[in-house]
Amino acid sequence: MNKKQLRVEEYVEGILSGNRVVLSQAITLIESTRNDHQLLAHQILERCLPTIKSHLRIGITGVPGVGKSTFIEAFGRVAIERGHRVAVLAIDPSSRLNRGSILGDKTRMEALSMHPNAYIRPSAAGDSLGGVARKTRETILLCEAAGFDTVLVETVGVGQSETAVRDLTDFFLLLLLPNAGDELQGMKRGIVEMCDWIAINKSDTNPTAAKIARTQYNNALHLFPRKENNWAASSSLCSAINGEGIEEIWDKINEFLNDMKNQGFIEKNRQQQSLFWLHESIKQELNRLFAQSPFVNASLQRLENEVLTQKKAVSQATQELIKLFLNEKI
Ligand code: GDP
Repeated sequence: MNKKQLRVEEYVEGILSGNRVVLSQAITLIESTRNDHQLLAHQILERCLPTIKSHLRIGITGVPGVGKSTFIEAFGRVAIERGHRVAVLAIDPSSRLNRGSILGDKTRMEALSMHPNAYIRPSAAGDSLGGVARKTRETILLCEAAGFDTVLVETVGVGQSETAVRDLTDFFLLLLLPNAGDELQGMKRGIVEMCDWIAINKSDTNPTAAKIARTQYNNALHLFPRKENNWAASSSLCSAINGEGIEEIWDKINEFLNDMKNQGFIEKNRQQQSLFWLHESIKQELNRLFAQSPFVNASLQRLENEVLTQKKAVSQATQELIKLFLNEKI
């Protein structure tokens, strides 16, 4: 393959015509840490933004082994049968920490990855969740510009990645196993609280336990206050491996979508998300510039010592450092 870098217009043209090789190359630019790549990526993104038509962004989470890949394979097929084009992205902030990816190192979603109306991008690695979230957010937009109107963002139930995925998507789906009793105890309350639907997967393995789990989860979900959009989160059974209950989940999500669109909530939620990421991005960029500032660095140790020896209050040291940081710019 010709490794010569394309021009902005060539990238944009390729993406808008749905060329997945060009799409992948542009995503690689987004993931790159090189400044020239970043600049190019932003020019491409800026040109693509006005063309974007997005149907649905879904976040999918669950512990390793719950059946996420199998579910996405089946769910993606349903979405394609209903006339959509599907992109699957993964957020996996663990990859850097564990020197290996929980999400990325299996052969995943083989059938879906071969389908002309599907595009699967392995996880974006990164050393911070904020960085991974930025890459994923920009990748979602490029995939949508390339005509993949339904984007599934997968994450494992570790750390704070669910919160990031929730803030990147319209609908947040939690996959759980039928052994409700154990899970309800071990499960992080926060994840259940933020989800829009619980799919109890592998219900073929123990249908009785799965039904009991559904009752327990529904009882638990009822205890949470309704969200601003007034959607009533609930749960259903599925078997990703047999394809059972998958269409019902697709229909449920589309019911949510129509309901929310009628109330203007999808647009409102996406706008709130954009503002949230804008402010996150400002914080990150300021932190980066602050850490790089020679003026700050020249005095940081002294001020840290003065705080440690109680010669200066934290607030005073902060003000001095910020002044040093700002003076540098004047
Ligand atoms: P992930 O780690 O969450 O992506 O899970 P996988 O999709 O890789 O699935 C883990 C294992 O569970 C695989 O061996 C799947 O074949 C199996 N599996 C997934 N869904 C189901 C299901 O609905 N029923 C049964 N019996 N097995 C399933």
